Amino acid sequence: MRFGSSESSCRSCAQIYPASDLDRYLWCPSCRNKVRRRGAVWARLVGITASLGLAGYLYLWVHPSSRFLLFYFLTLAMTYLLTSRIAMFVVQGYYRARGGVALPPTDGAAR
Ligand SMILES: [Zn+2]
Repeated sequence: MRFGSSESSCRSCAQIYPASDLDRYLWCPSCRNKVRRRGAVWARLVGITASLGLAGYLYLWVHPSSRFLLFYFLTLAMTYLLTSRIAMFVVQGYYRARGGVALPPTDGAAR
């Protein structure tokens, strides 16, 4: 329905939008923002958890010397950046694959 018609429905919320407003997955800007925000929340949680876990490991087992303190802080920062980025893409991919950011349908609903 994307080509030849000027309007199309969002695959997530089923609202009618101009086809130019939908992205290549046929999602409207509102649903895109929702999935982006959810991805950002999970990204921060995963990034902070991974960084704290690595910091605990380094503090308890590696016993970082003050000589390489900058290296350890850079390692923690890179851990946060990489794990949060991965978590964001995984969460966004999950919602894209599920077909929407709304709650999943109950058992009696037709799919
Ligand atoms: Zn939508």
